[in-house]
Amino acid sequence: MKNLLIIFFTLISVQCYTQISICGTDEYNKPLIENNPKQYESIERAIQNYMSGARFKTTGKIIIPVVFHIIWQDDNENLADSVIHHQVEVLNEAFNVTNSDTSILTDTLKKWVGKFEISFELAYLDPEGNPTTGITRRKTQAPHFSYWGNYMKFDSTNGTDAWPTDKYLNFWVCDLYGGLLGYAQFPGGPSETDGLVLDWQITGNQIYPWTYPNLESFAGGRVAVHEVGHWLNLFHPWGNNGPCSEDHIPETGKQAGPVYPSAQCPDTLISDCDPPERVFVKHYMDYCGNECMVCFTKNQVERGIASLMTNRLSIIENYIPKPIVNTFDETKINPTLTKGRLYFEFPEYEGRLDIEIYDIMGRVVWSTNLWGERYYQLFLGKNVNGTYIIQLIHNKKGVFNKKIVVNSSSPFGANLKEEDIYLNKNN
Ligand SMILES: [Zn+2]
Repeated sequence: MKNLLIIFFTLISVQCYTQISICGTDEYNKPLIENNPKQYESIERAIQNYMSGARFKTTGKIIIPVVFHIIWQDDNENLADSVIHHQVEVLNEAFNVTNSDTSILTDTLKKWVGKFEISFELAYLDPEGNPTTGITRRKTQAPHFSYWGNYMKFDSTNGTDAWPTDKYLNFWVCDLYGGLLGYAQFPGGPSETDGLVLDWQITGNQIYPWTYPNLESFAGGRVAVHEVGHWLNLFHPWGNNGPCSEDHIPETGKQAGPVYPSAQCPDTLISDCDPPERVFVKHYMDYCGNECMVCFTKNQVERGIASLMTNRLSIIENYIPKPIVNTFDETKINPTLTKGRLYFEFPEYEGRLDIEIYDIMGRVVWSTNLWGERYYQLFLGKNVNGTYIIQLIHNKKGVFNKKIVVNSSSPFGANLKEEDIYLNKNN
């Protein structure tokens, strides 16, 4: 009996290793859906109703605040902030189609590309309202995790509790077991486990020492894009109910199973479904690898937006825009004793910024306006020796003053060319 058990477990472990999961979303969500089918039907109905109504429109700028919980055991797994920043950049590129490699699509396929116009922003406030980097870290005793039990999602099981999932999209980054690269919870699951999990090795866009052979193709940060797709209720193109099932996305075609990087990224394939269909491969919801997963399709975007506007609406409604801190105190104007040339460096701001220069009689002798520029230089002209006040005006309020002295014998701020801006003291 004991021997039989050993053989049985050996078989299981061999099978687990050979059937590398890549994405565990379907397996993870299956029991949730089976235990509460009515709820998932009503979620699907809400999406379909939204899409069939006249409500679908380009939504403009939507910001989703995100938090990354890094659960690490060895130093490699304790990813630097910069890696997480890269990951957020990859997400923003994907959801706004600013990645340059959509160039691999033919002109025909390019017509199928959809743009979410959603941005992801690392949370700037934690649930208590304190400033945060949007990244938490926990050293864990657990050597690795899987979707069984969701242990990475709770303080009590060697992980980190979710931040309120109606306000933040939670990412857990940890060592996932057995080649699993990530999984996400579709809308409808328990709120305390909502969000998505990534293996540390495919987080960000760096290449790490690889534990699993042949999975380098998934470095580059696009597994996270795929999982956010699931979080927005996008399915794999082969459906989440067995081969050739429904993914609600007409242009991807009925598909029997994943297209792996070994397929060499064809434009389209003929599927093994009955009847066979032409399938579109090069999108984020397949498994075709970082070099090949380059876009969402138009209907994926429409479905994802419908999902966001119905089942994920709270995360948009609860978003508190990051206040623009007009710390014009940090403005730099140099040199302050100048032959006439001035360099400006402004902190980040939005909207119009006026620069006005007054002489000692309080007359405006020069002015201009900027719209978001961070750097500016001007030349006040020759033979305009004197003392001046520079004032910055933002949102109709004076936000910064500085006194400067123009003196042609100053060693700083040398003259520029004739076409430079001259101060006209008579105006
Ligand atoms: Zn998946």
